[in-house]
Amino acid sequence: MDNPGVIPTAPAIVQKTMTQRLYYTDSYQTEFDATLVAVTTMAGRPAALLDRTCFYPTSGGQPFDRGTLAGHQVVDVVAGDKGEIWHLLAAPLTGVAVGSSVHGLIDWPRRYDHMQQHSGQHLLSQLFYRLFGYETLSVHFGADESTLDLDVATLEPAQRDEAEDKANDLVYTALPIKSYFVSDAELSRVPLRRPPKVSGEIRIVEIDGFDYSACGGTHVRTTAEIGSIKLTKLERRRGQTRLTFLCGKRALRDYAAKHRLLGEIAALFSADASEAPKLIERNLVQLKTLQRELDAANERLLRYEATELADSAGESGQLRIVARLFAGRDINLVKGLAGQLQQQPNVIALLGATADDKLTLIFARSAEVDLHVGQLLRDTLQLAGGKGGGRPDFAQGGVAAPAVGQQLLAAAVEQVKAAIGD
Ligand SMILES: [Zn+2]
Repeated sequence: MDNPGVIPTAPAIVQKTMTQRLYYTDSYQTEFDATLVAVTTMAGRPAALLDRTCFYPTSGGQPFDRGTLAGHQVVDVVAGDKGEIWHLLAAPLTGVAVGSSVHGLIDWPRRYDHMQQHSGQHLLSQLFYRLFGYETLSVHFGADESTLDLDVATLEPAQRDEAEDKANDLVYTALPIKSYFVSDAELSRVPLRRPPKVSGEIRIVEIDGFDYSACGGTHVRTTAEIGSIKLTKLERRRGQTRLTFLCGKRALRDYAAKHRLLGEIAALFSADASEAPKLIERNLVQLKTLQRELDAANERLLRYEATELADSAGESGQLRIVARLFAGRDINLVKGLAGQLQQQPNVIALLGATADDKLTLIFARSAEVDLHVGQLLRDTLQLAGGKGGGRPDFAQGGVAAPAVGQQLLAAAVEQVKAAIGD
């Protein structure tokens, strides 16, 4: 590497490799012996170059293999621009000289999972093309789920279901999957789904007469080994459709997780999972009815409370000042009370509510009272460094000083009395 530490862009398909890629011919090989060619530092890690390797470098959307090299953890695998493969290690290869032999072992469950997802993707891409004429524009294999982007703005759920069903049929058919190299001259005879990104010797991954892809990835032996294929998500993205899919054990794990979840939901209703949607819907309807009834009951109660407060503040023929501070009462109920007090004759309501670290003031008045409560609220809040205001007949504002509630209400009462010349 001319520039160690900088990870070069890995070409999707490398024709002449400096490192022999053992996975090109046998993606099931998990162990190998190789000669250490060079060591360097890349991205702050010790990196080893071998004459041959089973380790797959991140490329073509497929993530790299983990495993060990001479007993050291391989934390990343990177393809260089000359076709060499660098193994980034957790610790330096102490005691191993350049030119000597090292033993490599790949993390097989991780690799096999990648093989299932990758073969599943080829199958799905060809299927979407054959069924609907939709091309796959890009793919991404993630740690938990994989995606493919189709060149169609809207994919109908029915189309997704049809593709999923047919894909699983092809799994049961156990079509052989093979890989081979072809020259430029031979390439024209291969019905590729998409043109290759490189020229020269091209590696073809073929699902027995069904799909031909130029691909450097690792694949399972037959479509049967892909296992279950599940399309889990369908999203519209800038004129394209992003499809999320799971293959093999990922699909099984997803099924198990959803089964468990449904079981938990069903247990809440002491019912069978199939009954759950109906029961949830019934509960939501009940909840809405109860909320409506509660709102109506609250309104009636607030009306009684307002009448009582207004009556205890004086005769209805004279101006009645109702000043009250509530602690921990739902602010919407205090607001409702202010609304009800407005309906009483000759009332000025000066209400406060404290909750947590906040004081909320709600000032309101009856229609016939000549006083701007919005201005009164602004003047009152200013005493505590707060801001607020509102309409002439109704205003709400807050300040982060719950302790001064009584003080502010008393000041407001004095201001009202001064304004009406009492
Ligand atoms: Zn591929």
